[in-house]
Amino acid sequence: MNKLVSIVIPAYNEADNIFVIAESIKGVFATLNYNYEIILVDDGSADHTLERIKEYAATAENIFFLEFSKNFGHQLAVKAGMDHAFGDCVISMDCDMQHPPELIPQMIQKWEEGFEVVYTIREEDKNLSKGKRSSSSLFYKLLNWLSDIELEAGAADFRLLDQKVVNVFRNFQENEPFLRGLVKWLGFKQYAIKYNPAARFSGKSKYTIKKMFRLALHGVTSFSIKPLYSAVYLGFILSFASVLYVPYVLYAFLNHVEVSGWASVIMTIVFFGGLQLIILGIIGIYVGKMFMQSKNRPNYIIRSTNIPTR
Ligand code: UDP
Ligand code: MG
Repeated sequence: MNKLVSIVIPAYNEADNIFVIAESIKGVFATLNYNYEIILVDDGSADHTLERIKEYAATAENIFFLEFSKNFGHQLAVKAGMDHAFGDCVISMDCDMQHPPELIPQMIQKWEEGFEVVYTIREEDKNLSKGKRSSSSLFYKLLNWLSDIELEAGAADFRLLDQKVVNVFRNFQENEPFLRGLVKWLGFKQYAIKYNPAARFSGKSKYTIKKMFRLALHGVTSFSIKPLYSAVYLGFILSFASVLYVPYVLYAFLNHVEVSGWASVIMTIVFFGGLQLIILGIIGIYVGKMFMQSKNRPNYIIRSTNIPTR
């Protein structure tokens, strides 16, 4: 019996990409001695993504779909796909052809060599906009500095996980998983492959600046409480610095030095007001996370699927 490889693809408004990606995966597997299934997760698309998926699924028995009740986001779409994938290994990749399917044989080969996680790292590429490249490298620097996991710059959500690892993942109930970090955190035998991302086939990037910023904040706060410590250290440093100011104040008082301090006082108040709000906000993020998690709501809701209950 050939082994089964599940391929999980999140799709959000990707109507024109479905056929292309599914066909190119088919082409890749034509040369391999593996069975495969594709699980397309429609993340609440507003275009014809779901229709295209259903049309395609009608032509083959190894094409499955999960339809979300609304947009839950890329990370949860991948998680849902993995929760429903029962292959001997599961590969997750984007819908837009930026993750080259030609890499799949190499990933499978590494998996056969005994690696349980085969992840990919995006090489610097001219196809990506400058803003995206520098924001991504800044993101990883910040993340590594502020959290306790080491992520390579350019780590992509294009990876192969052994069934063992997927089974571990299935029990994760984080309501906003940050998969790249979680996979790194899990351990197991990991192997990294470098690749050159292709240009997006059709449509445009769904990651707006706002979404990227959110992912970055989330990536940091879901892996460490270092930001809380930095608030404490900052508090100490500033209190200490203010003590240094005391002699001058005494001197000015005793010598009746005329003080014209309006501007400096206002500046100080505004600066520290801002700083306090930032730190309060950081604490707030952690409290908010506890709140969201404590409600135990399902992380995603499936409206329909053609996956038989296994
Ligand atoms: N995606 C998703 N839900 C979202 C945003 C994106 O399922 O809310 C999917 C999208 O369809 C694509 C993948 O996640 O398959 C990566 O998105 P995109 O290509 O827009 O990101 P980029 O490559 O620009 O980082
Ligand atoms: Mg993309």
